[in-house]
Amino acid sequence: MLFFIGGLFLGSLLNNIAYRIEKEEDFVYSRSKCTHCGHTLSSRELIPVLSFLLQAGKCAFCKKNISFQYPVSEIITGIMTLGIARAVFGAGGGWVEFLYLLFFFSCFFIVALLDLKTTYIDERIVYAAFLGWLIFHLAFPSLKQLVFSGSLQYFFSSSGAFMIGLFLHPADAVLSFMLAILLGGIAGIYLLFKYRKMKKEIPYVPFLFVGTFLTCIYGAQIISFYMRATL
Ligand SMILES: [Zn+2]
Repeated sequence: MLFFIGGLFLGSLLNNIAYRIEKEEDFVYSRSKCTHCGHTLSSRELIPVLSFLLQAGKCAFCKKNISFQYPVSEIITGIMTLGIARAVFGAGGGWVEFLYLLFFFSCFFIVALLDLKTTYIDERIVYAAFLGWLIFHLAFPSLKQLVFSGSLQYFFSSSGAFMIGLFLHPADAVLSFMLAILLGGIAGIYLLFKYRKMKKEIPYVPFLFVGTFLTCIYGAQIISFYMRATL
């Protein structure tokens, strides 16, 4: 439960970072404001999800609607943080591994959020992720590379060049990509039937995000299910 609540606050922070990158605003010195009237939010108005519910989704100052993006993404990062904690501690990892993976998913979440809103990928986040990866490995040489996709690890030993390949075991990265393609394909077919034609470019990072998350949480189950279904 503490992981979930911590994740809600993390989501609030990540939303802010994504918003400031999108609007090219100053990170450190500017405080959170209402997107409509510019009213600076007090600490009472900054509680994840709860503030949104208490204010009935409206700015306390100008009474305009606050985007659903905020509470929804805070709940997503809440679930994300809880899921990572369960996966890491369940796979024999410790606090270092937890923070390592949480950092990776946080960077990933910002990229997915920006992709969803702007359909472009901000390279600065990828550089920040790489820098973080480097720092983690230099500061904690004992950092364990956990494997979440069970027996799939024996089939893949080459390393990937992607952000996922950097943070995850190659087998987990492969499963993440396969799940993302599958999810993206399902969504693509759904949109095709709904609109009869491809209306716009589909952002793919969110699918990759979901695929990677599912790999870390249910990787072993997915692979053993697949093995039983095909062999
Ligand atoms: Zn306002």
